Amino acid sequence: MAIGMSRSPGMYGLKAEGGLGPPVRRVLSLDEMVAGITAGNRAVLARAVTLIESTRVQDRPLAKALLQALLPLTGKAHRIGITGVPGVGKSTTIDQLGMNLIAAGHRVAVLAVDPTSRRTGGSILGDKTRMQRLSQAPQAFIRPSPTSGTLGGVARRTRETMALVEAAGFDVVIVETVGVGQSETAVADMVDFFLVLLLAGGGDDLQGIKKGIVELADMIAINKADGDNVERAGKSAAEYQGALNILTPASPSWQPPVVTISGRDNLGLERLWEKIEEHRRIMTGTGEWEGRRRRQAVATLRDMLAEGLMEQLNATPGVAERLKAVEAEVAAGQMMPAFAVESVLDMLAATPPPRSTC
Ligand code: GDP
Repeated sequence: MAIGMSRSPGMYGLKAEGGLGPPVRRVLSLDEMVAGITAGNRAVLARAVTLIESTRVQDRPLAKALLQALLPLTGKAHRIGITGVPGVGKSTTIDQLGMNLIAAGHRVAVLAVDPTSRRTGGSILGDKTRMQRLSQAPQAFIRPSPTSGTLGGVARRTRETMALVEAAGFDVVIVETVGVGQSETAVADMVDFFLVLLLAGGGDDLQGIKKGIVELADMIAINKADGDNVERAGKSAAEYQGALNILTPASPSWQPPVVTISGRDNLGLERLWEKIEEHRRIMTGTGEWEGRRRRQAVATLRDMLAEGLMEQLNATPGVAERLKAVEAEVAAGQMMPAFAVESVLDMLAATPPPRSTC
């Protein structure tokens, strides 16, 4: 099952040892990657993630084989999503929470979903410099968001990276995202527990509820509850709790709590983690834990299938052109959408499929 043993400048290769001249990067075989990941080797893990993130069609067979080989080792981590607007204190809180978890014997991976992020300048979700202590801990693995592609593509690669880190023995996976747009839904759909970080006061209290974010929340934490802000944070938490209590919770067994924390001063994080553990106990007991995971897996399959079909359509000679042509006719009111769809699908069915890219 050795794949990709040839010498090539693959980004997921390792530098060949010894020898003269410029370093040659050797592509790792499937067996070498599986062995490295299951041994918890972070260098191999990082290269495997790069392979997963690669958009090169020729990298997909090895990436898929790797994921399939590791499948029995996945699914064991506690998956936690964290969202909040820039400045709310996500990285400060994750850094501290991560250090607390490591001290309690956990191994913590931090991933990010931010389709708008760019690696050139600015603050990037999951950027190691934002989590100073955690990034230096051997028991942690931090990976910034994949930078290119649609939200669907970024989310898919993050899900696959989650499988890799689980196989590498990380038992807590935190997926960070920003409090804007659809990326929150995408993250809520890939985790066991979704935590929304908010700030107290500022006149925008309960804004999250209006935006529908808290409907995704398994817990709300009001951050920066320290110094002069303690009282305001407590008041704000009570308001949110009151508002949440009149919403129908997503699960009949779990009323999302509102807590106050200070990520900076490590206040309330112990209680926050106890709540996350309590949620797991309750959900496991009712079977909702398994149910949520199963639904997520099937939804992923469907998303990937839809994406794969669109890719296949776009890559099949003539079909993409046909789609463009019928789009123009539909836009001009000269063709019914149903007829246009039939025309594209008929052509797709009659054309040999291109090489799969998913
Ligand atoms: P992010 O953009 O959501 O990741 O937010 P950061 O973690 O980078 O924090 C933004 C700013 O808020 C920084 O200046 C932090 O020092 C500060 N900050 C973060 N958490 C706390 C907290 O618990 N209390 C206080 N007072 N400041 C905090």
